[in-house]
Amino acid sequence: MEESYSQSTQQQLQKDLLFAVHGLKGQVLNQSSLAVGLEWKKALSEKNEIKIIDSNNDAQLKKISQEMADCRLCQLAKTRHNLVFGDGNPNAQIVFVGEAPGADEDEQGLPFVGRAGQLLTKIIEAMGIKRRDVYICNILKCRPPGNRNPLPEEISLCEPFLKKQLYAISPKVVCALGKFAAQTLLKTDVPITSLRGRFHTYDGIKLMPTYHPAYLLRNPSAKKPVWEDVQMIMNEVQF
Ligand code: URA
Repeated sequence: MEESYSQSTQQQLQKDLLFAVHGLKGQVLNQSSLAVGLEWKKALSEKNEIKIIDSNNDAQLKKISQEMADCRLCQLAKTRHNLVFGDGNPNAQIVFVGEAPGADEDEQGLPFVGRAGQLLTKIIEAMGIKRRDVYICNILKCRPPGNRNPLPEEISLCEPFLKKQLYAISPKVVCALGKFAAQTLLKTDVPITSLRGRFHTYDGIKLMPTYHPAYLLRNPSAKKPVWEDVQMIMNEVQF
């Protein structure tokens, strides 16, 4: 039986299909094809053509950000003041992924700008790089009221945007900050203490889980293992 769709339904179907293909691409990309992509980027950068790639990554991020600018997919839209999309270098080799915006981030529309954010900035600088060299975002783009844990439904509605962000940036390493980010991205209940200290894979990208800066503020002795984790990250990237 032949079905007819209205123009807006057709457009929506087209969008859904494109989105599905994009997601599938992310799933299907194996380590070696990703490595080819990275080699390709490296080759272009050696030929000083990296600007083309830069603006492409930037344009893709802007497009995703515009796509979700007025996102109302979950209930957090009702209580947020600002959506916190992410911030930093669109061509970053390292992306830090936290849990969700807190009060300061919700107010300013930027990730990790509160006390935990200041500590994250110090960690990044201790790595010998600047905050502007990396990209920082969260699993959820909107603040859960009272900083409660993200709900599974909120995560499943928001994670596709994170996947697109990572696909646009194609970093060498993702650093998952804290138990929640690590367990959510790796789809596991394994404690952060066991997950940290070694690389895992997320959508074909190397992922290093480490303790959340907010945890470090309460447990300064955890700074040593975090330092070990970020050194492993630095061994993976070239600045
Ligand atoms: N904690 C997070 O996980 N993300 C932020 O952006 C700030 C604090």
